[in-house]
Amino acid sequence: MKTTKIEWTESTWNPTVGCTKISAGCKNCYAEAMARRLQAMNMKGYENGFEFALLPERLEQPFLIKKPTKFFVNSMSDLFHEKMPFDYLDSIFDTIRKTPQHSYQILTKRDVMLQKYFSTRTVPQNAWLGVTVEHAQAKSRIDVLRTIPASIRFLSIEPLIDDVGMLDLSDIHWVIVGGESGMSARPMNPEWVINIQQQCQKQNVAFFFKQWGTWGEDGMKRNKKTNGCLLLGKEWKETPKPEHSLPF
Ligand code: SF4
Repeated sequence: MKTTKIEWTESTWNPTVGCTKISAGCKNCYAEAMARRLQAMNMKGYENGFEFALLPERLEQPFLIKKPTKFFVNSMSDLFHEKMPFDYLDSIFDTIRKTPQHSYQILTKRDVMLQKYFSTRTVPQNAWLGVTVEHAQAKSRIDVLRTIPASIRFLSIEPLIDDVGMLDLSDIHWVIVGGESGMSARPMNPEWVINIQQQCQKQNVAFFFKQWGTWGEDGMKRNKKTNGCLLLGKEWKETPKPEHSLPF
């Protein structure tokens, strides 16, 4: 059952919440705005707003769900945040390993911590690892991701705020692209998106176009629902091919 509005997953699991801005893509972070709203509503876990916080009572949550589910891990945080203790990460990956009926999509902007953690540990078969590449300066994260033996490696190119240029997509299985939403959203040039779609096609990588966001394909600012998610007149909702989920 889908329990989140995030188009490319089915549910979210947040064993930690809160984060710190680290990159240009963080400027209008939706998780920060949401955390402030939840704090105002006195929601447990958000007592300190967007401060990074461990929520160990949530570690067991995936065990309660029997139906195979695709979880986006830490939609409200970054799993490889500087304040994340490695022994707590071990507990998270222990839950992941012990619930093989589920898939876990893990996305980070903190490639150094990602690499450090997995330099001494293996990636569970049901964990997909991804990095955010919102502009060309973040492309080095792809090279780091490529070195980590995950069954599925993916890129979130969202919010796309600049031309990323040429991409080496070898050993990358999935690319998600989206424009920014909200009052302060930065525009996304259609040529940047088409460039990525064409490179995915050439390099045989699944391409998922999430949305235009606040700025439409025609360069007009309006409601993101109205701007939709058609690119070159069609929807692009490809997902990684089944053979990618074979052991690495
Ligand atoms: S890394 Fe993600 S969650 Fe953290 S501040 Fe940046 S956009 Fe927000």
